[in-house]
Amino acid sequence: MELVFLEPLESIIFDGRVIKGIKVKEKTFGGFCECGGVMYQKMRFIDSKTGILVSECDKCWKNDALIISMLDGRVMDRADLKLVDRSNFPEFLKKILSESEFKAVIAKAYGKEYNPSSYSKAKRKLEEMNLEISTILSII
Ligand SMILES: [Zn+2]
Repeated sequence: MELVFLEPLESIIFDGRVIKGIKVKEKTFGGFCECGGVMYQKMRFIDSKTGILVSECDKCWKNDALIISMLDGRVMDRADLKLVDRSNFPEFLKKILSESEFKAVIAKAYGKEYNPSSYSKAKRKLEEMNLEISTILSII
């Protein structure tokens, strides 16, 4: 299983929906990494039924996620995290949007002329996933 972590939004995509995370400020043990390093908890994501705990390795910076049931606290699954940062955010959008929708969003972000109907389709698509278009425009 692979989860997408949208770093600039501090959010994770789980089951096609975006869940906003809470940063773990205190240094909290999060398990051991495959490389032998110690992992520390980085972000917590809580949904009605599921909790996701993201930890980062102190040595190789690998990110790892544990999926926890909110009913009984049981670990349901372990997932690899695909990190999306500012530099590969446009690439991530390209996968979600159609070509014309993607072009309209990029043009709008750069203050250029854009196709309003493609833009509103893109806006709707992103908002259905719980992604705020204004936030997206500010990071691309
Ligand atoms: Zn490691």
